[in-house]
Amino acid sequence: MYYHHYYPIDVVNGPGTRCTLFVSGCEHQCKGCYNQSTWRLDGGHPFDEALFERIIADLNDSRIPRRGLSLSGGDPLHPANVPTILALVQAVRARCPGKDIWCWTGYRLDELTAAQQAVVAYLDVLVDGRFEQTLADPALIWRGSSNQVIHHFDRSAALWQHQTTLTQKE
Ligand code: SF4
Repeated sequence: MYYHHYYPIDVVNGPGTRCTLFVSGCEHQCKGCYNQSTWRLDGGHPFDEALFERIIADLNDSRIPRRGLSLSGGDPLHPANVPTILALVQAVRARCPGKDIWCWTGYRLDELTAAQQAVVAYLDVLVDGRFEQTLADPALIWRGSSNQVIHHFDRSAALWQHQTTLTQKE
């Protein structure tokens, strides 16, 4: 996997203070995409073991408490990215107790493959769907167009369930 940017301290992409990783690779080619430089799978920099471990360490850094990890791009659920993203979210769950994981993807939840769903099983929130320029609305929070859905997964529930946010404000 390749990545474009890693922000160890970020207050824009998700709630609270976070670590945010923008991966490379997206096949959706949404009209009006503001991140076209991330479309190529081999753009940016190799995502290596050192960055993997840095993210874990940053999430556990008590000097600057982070609420969690945000995964964006590009598309973290591009099939070529899924194996590395799966390893990362598994490591965050195992080694960063109390941290949440948000992920943005251009795929819809109901069209994910089994491999992509394996990543979703470790997420707290998935923001799904392509960016639709005709449905773009700057009043929206955490999403760019109104077709996109914020899925909150209740990880504390006995049964894995989720509620969907369709309102403009959380
Ligand atoms: S899914 Fe996101 S990164 Fe990919 S083309 Fe659409 S807006 Fe751009």
